[in-house]
Amino acid sequence: SYRSRSAFKLIEMDEKYKFLRNQRDVQVVLDLGAAPGGWSQVVAQKLGWDAPLPLLRKAERMREPRGVYPKPGHSWSGAGASSSWPLPDGDEPADEPFTNPLDISALDAGTGRGTIVAVDLLRMVPIPGVQFIQADFLAPETEALIRGIIERKRGPHGKADVILCDMAANSTGNAFHDIESSLAICTSVLEFSKRHLRSAESMQRGLGGVLLMKYFVHPLTHMFRMEHLVTNFNDVRFIKPDASRTESKEAYYLCRGFKG
Ligand code: SAM
Repeated sequence: SYRSRSAFKLIEMDEKYKFLRNQRDVQVVLDLGAAPGGWSQVVAQKLGWDAPLPLLRKAERMREPRGVYPKPGHSWSGAGASSSWPLPDGDEPADEPFTNPLDISALDAGTGRGTIVAVDLLRMVPIPGVQFIQADFLAPETEALIRGIIERKRGPHGKADVILCDMAANSTGNAFHDIESSLAICTSVLEFSKRHLRSAESMQRGLGGVLLMKYFVHPLTHMFRMEHLVTNFNDVRFIKPDASRTESKEAYYLCRGFKG
């Protein structure tokens, strides 16, 4: 079960637009304004972090040397795997070519099946596969913390594939104030995305990263879309998921193909 109703909005949007579907393509996901964790749960599932336990145990057993070993320096031929198998002293390496029957790297708890970073002002109960930062996203020091995690996965110039933002400041009851704070969040998330989202150029795959963010419907946010989002992404659409209450003014911008 999911921790929030919001989880169903993300599921619905992804079912329609499939921006989390391709695990090969989506390896680094940021979830901004993540508590209590519904969206993070959905992403963790999509990236396979809830792999059946027997499979994880099998991968774990295969990490322990058991009698037959490849030659020293052998690298796994499985997709994505790069580390050499440890060779205990005195054991004779086997001559036959070694193939990696499981993609162990994809199940490794360290590198995982992708990196998910969740940020929120509030605490969040841990979710397997999700690295949580309790901080104010708008505080300048938070960016460096997120950056550190992206770089651990992808190296110094590494980028995120998908940035999700369901952040909303507490409602003040004053519609104009609420729109202003929503715009401040959207602007800050967009500027952040320009620095940390993969662009078609950075990945050389012709596919720019995806930004999904919540906003409040208002003529000012419409201007924001036209002036800032449309210029930075190949495809921008606004979505009102069925799972979102009709009386609520919230909606989402789905921005695909970051130009960079
Ligand atoms: N997507 C979440 C889920 O599925 O569980 C629900 C997110 S909830 C609608 C919005 C969250 O944004 C709140 O938990 C709030 O604490 C967080 N938030 C608001 N402003 C924030 C900020 N400046 N920095 C970090 N988190 C913030």
